[in-house]
Amino acid sequence: MEIGLLSDIPTYAGGLGTLAGDTIKSSADLKLPLIAVTLISRLGYFRQELGERGEQIELSVPWNPSHLLVRWPAEATVQIQNRDVRVGAWIYNQQSPTGGAVPVLFLDTDLEANRSDDRTITDHLYGGDDSYRLKQEMVLGIGGVRILEALGTEIRKYHMNEGQSSLLTLELLKRYGMDAEAVKDLCIFTTHTPVQAGHDKFDYSLVRDLLGDFIDIEVLKKLAGADRLNMTGLALNLSNYINGVAKRHRATSMDMFPGYEIHSITNGVHSFTWTCPCLQKLFDKYMPGWANEPEMLLRVNGCPDEEIWKAHMGAKRDLIDQVNRETDADMDDESLTIGFARRATMYKRTTFLFSDLQRLRRANHKGTIQIVLAGKAHPRDEEGKKAIQSVFEIMDILHNEIKIAYLQDYNMPLAAKMVSGADVWLNTPLPPQEASGTSGMKAAHNGVVNFSVLDGWWIEGWIEGVTGWSIGPEPGEDISFEMARKREIEDFYSKLEYIIIPMFYQRRDYWMRMMKNSIGMIASFFNSHRMMRRYVTEAYL
Ligand SMILES: *Cc1c(COP(=O)(O)O)cnc(C)c1O
Repeated sequence: MEIGLLSDIPTYAGGLGTLAGDTIKSSADLKLPLIAVTLISRLGYFRQELGERGEQIELSVPWNPSHLLVRWPAEATVQIQNRDVRVGAWIYNQQSPTGGAVPVLFLDTDLEANRSDDRTITDHLYGGDDSYRLKQEMVLGIGGVRILEALGTEIRKYHMNEGQSSLLTLELLKRYGMDAEAVKDLCIFTTHTPVQAGHDKFDYSLVRDLLGDFIDIEVLKKLAGADRLNMTGLALNLSNYINGVAKRHRATSMDMFPGYEIHSITNGVHSFTWTCPCLQKLFDKYMPGWANEPEMLLRVNGCPDEEIWKAHMGAKRDLIDQVNRETDADMDDESLTIGFARRATMYKRTTFLFSDLQRLRRANHKGTIQIVLAGKAHPRDEEGKKAIQSVFEIMDILHNEIKIAYLQDYNMPLAAKMVSGADVWLNTPLPPQEASGTSGMKAAHNGVVNFSVLDGWWIEGWIEGVTGWSIGPEPGEDISFEMARKREIEDFYSKLEYIIIPMFYQRRDYWMRMMKNSIGMIASFFNSHRMMRRYVTEAYL
């Protein structure tokens, strides 16, 4: 549904889209024969502005595809409410310096032949009601398969990245004479959401109305759930290879979907994209070839500490300059800088670090800290919006004591600045709701040290005091919900006050080792090159 390749193609909302973009970039670098399909989202997701008290203002981001994409002559037709809706496509070619390339198709219903309301189906990313969303998913899944055929490409495997594209299985079923086994052989499904509410479900009355006689509803009910059309259920039932995005997420998914064999291929990020220019240069000097072989980052110990620190300070200055340009926080380059950027939504716990202001003040007396936050709330997520406003209230309370800034409009360029310019990258989701998380991997590529709740990928990346620090209990610990929350708060404040701040200010040699371990032990593994090699050998072949 979303792909984040460049900030100039604003067809992404967050982690799912940036992961898709990184997948495509690594596939191009590795010369994999892959083609990606998504929607054009002509009005983008939204641009976030924040009012005086942190009220989120949402502006649409109309963009002109013809600047970067090429109109593809092929078209396909999808029947919605038994009426023909024409689907066109734009193509973007993700070109790699290795010579590889991956075409990305952006489906578009804004064609003259279509009725005016059908022309808007591919306008909004994650906007509109269930009916709008199901139409989009029909265009994506059914239209996607048909346009690939119209292009004359021979597809050997279909990889559904989250359930929104799973109507493609129905189109394949019809082509294969309703032979479910034949379709399963073609399909791979990656689930990304360990929260029930995160899976798209549609009432069958709506399905019947929009899909018309596309498929016998009784057949569909057997494949996608008796009560409602569950897009995840459909993908699960028609894929031979199913995976979660981290080991912990695999376990959570097996509990959520009993009876399915679920694998795990832990996510990664595109190393070159997410390493800041200063460190790119340094890596080129000491580990030439690292961008297409990120395993080489293992050898980071060959880089002198001073050069790594200098490169980090370059990135840090960049971030602090932006903070000081956009806010009146008046931050400096020397203070320990904590970064936190997440979609503002309940489970990400935007305000966790402000749970106990007295202890935060106490930590700040041990050594100055400054905090940079960012993140959008989904336009309909009222709680998420309130969380941003709470941060603004806390900024007022701590005014003149601790420097805090909330930057507007979290997107890929801002993410790149924050994950390289902070000293510590903080992550405090409510476990087990973070399927993987990827911003901590981006931070590690820049020698920014992770301080995180044990959830998602961090369980695999974490070695206490070596690659970063944990917050709260380990997954297997027998501990009540309330005790777990207490432990998290205790860990957060005590590690910050007694370990992190003293090490940053007094033991720079230890700090440098942790920075290098982040690069050598995390970035060398948690990259999308490794992820794609595993998809090829374990899922695609
Ligand atoms: C990497 C990234 C994310 C995902 O970060 P998480 O750690 O999974 O929350 C979200 N949004 C943007 C813009 C990103 O670059």
